[in-house]
Amino acid sequence: MPTITQNLDNNSIIPLLTMNDGRQIPQLGFGTFQLSGETCYNAVRAAITAGYRHIDTAAVYGNEEEVGRAIQDAIDVGEVTREQLFVTTKLWNDSHDRVAGALDASLERLGLDYVDLYLIHWPVEKIGMFATAYRDMVTLRDQGKTASVGVCNSYPEVLDKMIQASGDTPAVNQIEVHPGFNQDELRAENAKRGILTESWSPLKQGQNLDNPAFQSIADAHGVTVAQVIIRWHIQRGDVVIPRSSKPERIRTNADVFGFQLTEDQMQRITAIEEGEAGRRGPNPHTFYEGTSLQKQ
Ligand code: NDP
Repeated sequence: MPTITQNLDNNSIIPLLTMNDGRQIPQLGFGTFQLSGETCYNAVRAAITAGYRHIDTAAVYGNEEEVGRAIQDAIDVGEVTREQLFVTTKLWNDSHDRVAGALDASLERLGLDYVDLYLIHWPVEKIGMFATAYRDMVTLRDQGKTASVGVCNSYPEVLDKMIQASGDTPAVNQIEVHPGFNQDELRAENAKRGILTESWSPLKQGQNLDNPAFQSIADAHGVTVAQVIIRWHIQRGDVVIPRSSKPERIRTNADVFGFQLTEDQMQRITAIEEGEAGRRGPNPHTFYEGTSLQKQ
């Protein structure tokens, strides 16, 4: 089995978490959903310059080429090495029956020999192939095309079917989490299985930021509301992948290791919980987009 070398511990102040396969993941990463073309390229370059070492993309984002080009250019100018980076991409819903080909196509677009983490984007229970797709991803890990494998948007029933089909437990479950949608039950289910929770839309796509509850906490620390929210995710122990197209925000969003929220401030943010009403994205139990594999 080929060994993929990691060299993440390179004086970065971003903490590393250990996944259940023994490999490490930087707790703060950079999201690239809805970034395209030169905006995407410039944002990923700015993120690497600002110290991010973990980049999250997906086949369906249509930006793997720009992400790959930004990574290659950062390597070429000596800013980072490949081993210092942690790159994630995801299997789209139309490819659960051709996982190997889908990963090869992603690698081609990224210009990489391997990714650090390959995720099933949505389990899409209605198609019914997520368990075999996960098993196929484990095979690709054993072939060295991805260092780690995991899932997104998965809930206990599908997690257990994937674990049963493959004999392997996903390293992470990337799910929607932000203040107002704490997902504490699902986070506990992940933890029970030894799966790290990775928070997507950690800033609720920028929609939560004018809540006055956040501003007073931000003022107390002399930081931005976005920094407070990202710090809340970090102190809860989740991996967090905020996205921005703006260099100054990209920089400040990663500058969250010089202050600590008090227990009371953590609780005040957690208390904003709205349950299902707080959800911003689709519900994974019913999400069915982009599926050409529809079972009749
Ligand atoms: P985020 O919660 O990260 O919010 C991004 C939005 O917040 C952008 O509109 C950005 O605007 C704004 N923003 C960022 N920083 C600041 C700031 N400091 N002050 C004010 N506004 C700010 O949304 P995403 O949905 O992008 O989630 C993050 C990542 O999670 C994605 O990019 C993707 O990688 C992943 N993801 C995964 C999913 C999955 O199904 N697995 C689903 C959705 C996301 P601006 O650009 O103008 O700064």
